[in-house]
Order: sequence, then structure tokens, then C-alpha cells
Amino acid sequence: MSLTDKLPPVAGRLSFDKPMKALSWLRVGGPAEVLFTPAHMADLAGFLAALPADVPVLPVGVCSNMIIRDGGIGGVVVRLGRAFNGFEVLGDGRVRVGGFALDGQVAKQAADAGIDLAFLRTIPGTIGGAIKMNAGCYGDYLADVFVSATAVTRGGQVVTLRPDDLRFAYRSSALPDDTIICQAVLRAPRGAPADIHQKMHTAVQRRAESQPVDDLSCGSTFRNPAGFSSTGREDDVHDLKAWKVIDDAGLRGATLGGAQMSPKHPNFLVNTGTATAADLEGLGELVRQKVRDTAGIDLQWEIMRVGTPLL
Ligand SMILES: Cc1cc2nc3c(=O)[nH]c(=O)nc-3n(C[C@H](O)[C@H](O)[C@H](O)COP(=O)(O)OP(=O)(O)OC[C@H]3O[C@@H](n4cnc5c(N)ncnc54)[C@H](O)[C@@H]3O)c2cc1C
Repeated sequence: MSLTDKLPPVAGRLSFDKPMKALSWLRVGGPAEVLFTPAHMADLAGFLAALPADVPVLPVGVCSNMIIRDGGIGGVVVRLGRAFNGFEVLGDGRVRVGGFALDGQVAKQAADAGIDLAFLRTIPGTIGGAIKMNAGCYGDYLADVFVSATAVTRGGQVVTLRPDDLRFAYRSSALPDDTIICQAVLRAPRGAPADIHQKMHTAVQRRAESQPVDDLSCGSTFRNPAGFSSTGREDDVHDLKAWKVIDDAGLRGATLGGAQMSPKHPNFLVNTGTATAADLEGLGELVRQKVRDTAGIDLQWEIMRVGTPLL
């Protein structure tokens, strides 16, 4: 039986052999065997409950932290879409946001309401992706503001997740790879809207000065190495910067095909326009190898790599 024959009826949209390149921040990658955009949470839950257990399911946001390999993604890719980008002020510094709401939009809407989620302003992904990755910048993390999330498991069960369930750590969480965040409640300090907007403006400028924000990238390619502390603490510290390690290995500006380690920020892996996913992942692996050989440091990917290579 083909996958198409196994799919339950839905209220939302099912697309088959859907090109993913245009939906990905790096503009690379093959098609999704099936792309599902649910109409609402009950649609998603009903679909997953009825979908045979052997069919793999992968949630994606706007793929701003993901290399989709050139052979594409088998099974069902779930991309929540507009029905899941709500924003509501709950009081007490809390907001309820959709799993597909863009971090930057959430930051701006929260600022208008006098709630300081400014750190989200320059992170290009969705709230679902931010929770999965424990996204953060300049010392603030999603974990700091997370109250709870409503999610649908691979079996179609609607669950409420609390911080203990997610066990946030540096750039990671314990969220299972096929559980889908549909909405979340965040709580942040209050402030004057004008001050929060100014803070965000400064953050945008600071980024543009040090990072290739106009290039096709996924932000930081590798996690800052663990255990290198400038303060002597060795628990989950990441004081040594991946960009420095890559720079020291002489790899600033290194290329493979159309992929490049950005001359402006060597931990940004960039599609210069003609890269394939294989170029990008291949260059990342070459960097890991050289850094291992020269500095004895095992760089860990921060960017997720999904799907299969082109055969
Ligand atoms: C220019 C640039 C700058 C960046 N700067 C930063 C930064 O400062 N800090 C930082 O942390 N990141 C940064 N990133 C990386 C990226 O934006 C974040 O990791 C972001 O949180 C990913 O969100 P996304 O929606 O694009 O997720 P995707 O890339 O689509 O997916 C990432 C992971 O999240 C999972 N996921 C996505 N949506 C859901 C959902 N609804 N439910 C469950 N799982 C889901 C996916 O399965 C995957 O495992 C940057 C990226 C770029 C391009």
C-alpha cells in the first residue's frame, strides 16, 4: 500500500512530493513525500491518531535551523501554517502564542503590550522551533520565559507540557522529535513599550554589524563547545565560541561547491547561491574534521540535518 493510501482524511491541506527548497531558509533540499498543513489542532490530533504508526512524522517551522538533504524527506512533514500563529495577552506578563507564530512578530506584539520578549526579535524561526531548540541570544533563552505548551504527540494525544517535561539545556530540549507544539504560554518581565522597542532596535543593529544577516544561512552552525569555562564552572558552560575555534583552524571563508563558512562570522554556514544540501553538510563535516585534528575539539552541529542524501 502506498503512503497516499494510508493517509486519513483531513480538514487542512495535504500536498504530495512537495518541494521544500522554497520553504527552507537555506534554499536547499529535496521534496517532502507528504506535507500536511492542519486546519486546527483537532485536525492534527485526529490525523496523527489515525496515521499508521510506521509512518515517520517530522514537524517543521520555517526551517531556519535545518538542512533538508537533497533526496528529500520520507513520510509526513507537518508545517502548522497560519491557523497556528495567534497572539493573546493573558495578564501578569504572560502571553499565549501559536506554535507557528514568528519569534520576531511575537517580540514586537509583546513589546506593544509592555512585555519584554526582546531577545526573540532577531531569531528568525517560529515559537515551536524556538521551544524545541531552546532558542536564545545574548544571554536570554526560551527556557527563561517558558510556562507551558500544548502539543500533539505522534499518537494523536493532546498534552500539556511544563518545564520539567522539556528539560531545557543549551540549545536543546527533551521534546520528542515527532511531538508537535501547537501553542505556548510565555511569561516575561514588564517594561515601557518604547524601551523594549529601543532594545530590539539595538539588537537588530548589533546583529547586522557582526553577522551576515542578508546571506542564506541558519545562524550558528555548531554549538559553542561544552565545558570550556572562563569562570572555572564546568557544568553546561559554553564560554569558548565555535566561531573562534573555526577561525583558529584557518577556516574563515572556507568553501565547498556553493557552500561557504562566512568571512564575516565563521560559524555561519552560507549558501552563496548555488549550494546543494550536500555541499553545506559536506563543508560542515570538513570543518568538524579539521577542528578535531588541529584543536582536539569535537564540534557538535546546532543545525538539524533531516531527510536523505540524493542517491
Ligand atoms: C540569520 C539567523 C540567525 C539565527 N540566530 C539564532 C539565535 O540567535 N539563537 C538561536 O537560538 N537560533 C538562531 N537561529 C536558528 C533558528 O532561527 C532557531 O533555531 C529557531 O528556533 C528555529 O525555528 P524554526 O521554526 O525555523 O524551526 P525549524 O528549523 O523548522 O526546526 C528546528 C527544529 O524544531 C522542530 N520544530 C519546529 N517547529 C516545531 C513545532 N511546532 N513543534 C515541535 N517541533 C518543532 C523541528 O522538528 C526541528 O527539530 C538563527 C537562524 C538564522 C537564519
